[in-house]
Amino acid sequence: MLRSRIPQIVLNKKAAGRFDGKHPWVYAPAIVAPASPLDAGAVVDLVYPDGSWIARGIYNPSSRIRVRLYAWDPETMLDGQWFASRLARAAELRQRWMTAENTHFDAYRLVNSEGDGLSGVIIDRFGPYAVVHISALAMWQYREALVEWLCQEHQLRGVLLRFDAQFASQEGVEAFEQWVVGEPPSGPVVFEEHGVRVAVSLASGQKTGYYLDQRANRLRAARWMRGGSVLDVCCYAGGFSMAAAVHGRAEQVVAVDSSRLALEAAQRNAELNEVGCLVTHRADCFDFLQRCVQDSRCFDTVVLDPPKMAGHRQQVGAAIRAYHRLNSLVIQLLRPGGLLVSCSCSGRVSREEFVGVVAAAAKGVGRELQVLEIRGADCDHPVHSWCPESEYLKCVIARAW
Ligand code: SAH
Repeated sequence: MLRSRIPQIVLNKKAAGRFDGKHPWVYAPAIVAPASPLDAGAVVDLVYPDGSWIARGIYNPSSRIRVRLYAWDPETMLDGQWFASRLARAAELRQRWMTAENTHFDAYRLVNSEGDGLSGVIIDRFGPYAVVHISALAMWQYREALVEWLCQEHQLRGVLLRFDAQFASQEGVEAFEQWVVGEPPSGPVVFEEHGVRVAVSLASGQKTGYYLDQRANRLRAARWMRGGSVLDVCCYAGGFSMAAAVHGRAEQVVAVDSSRLALEAAQRNAELNEVGCLVTHRADCFDFLQRCVQDSRCFDTVVLDPPKMAGHRQQVGAAIRAYHRLNSLVIQLLRPGGLLVSCSCSGRVSREEFVGVVAAAAKGVGRELQVLEIRGADCDHPVHSWCPESEYLKCVIARAW
């Protein structure tokens, strides 16, 4: 498309005063409504009120994120060639990472949305299967090219394409979940993570997949452990529990989650790794921890990895209060010198804020923390320096006295 024919979206004066255009999300209140209606999915140029060029993106009148920006160079057209080059860049990074780690991972994140300059698409590889999660209309438009590229570049038995209902309704698209290539696996897919075997269910219609972002944190946390007892709160499929048993010499692991399917997966993973010391509890984490404190229970290690607490800016206050409460409870359960592994996956809560909450929680219950490591997601989840929200995962490892 000729550059002169690309429709322009004008940043309004108020937004122009405080927004430098260096963030991939442009919200509806920041722009002047276009004079004539534009199609959802149209390529647009974002400009300042004086007409000067900012960036190129994709427009969606149904979404709160009215324009997603993808190119900050006016020569870049958002065409198939551009898309293919972004995918190639993402693939090259994973190759480089595995070379640097001197290992091969058969489960990893191949594309990480904003972190790979492709806001709205995530691709996870699980052995010979790929799961494509689309969360923006802008990327939905490239789905065919995406699946074609995946099949050309990777030897795959199947590709599951998903546009989950929550995002689909925000983006004005119908929810979608289908194996677009190959057949669904007949049972759980098994892969290895730092010597731990992991089975994940990729069946449609179920909570699927695995939290690959915590891969390195599980191993690091286990390396600080010295056996004893471990409480894994919000355990999902037991990732931290297995690392604790296999690498941390844990003698007793108590894993808690509110989801039955998660606990079944954790049990299955315990069997797969011949871990006999896992006990699971289906419970709400606040209730469970409160009861443990009342019963004066003690652990050598507590892992706390609750779900995302703040999806919107307005939810940040409540999220911080919830993190404070949960951390106050778990810190009380630690023996002197016990290990705390406290995580947050809320992109809206910054690293500084989260570390501050953990420190304040410890102070509130009269305990000192020795912070050993403040970590993020593993290297296949790169962070975009212009999108602080893409640094969503925080993992504080500390000793409590
Ligand atoms: N630690 C896991 C990932 C945790 S994801 C890993 O290493 O893979 C967050 C988990 O919290 C999910 O499994 C979800 O089912 C669980 N969860 C959500 N709300 C909860 C609650 N109120 N109480 C307990 N678990 C909860």
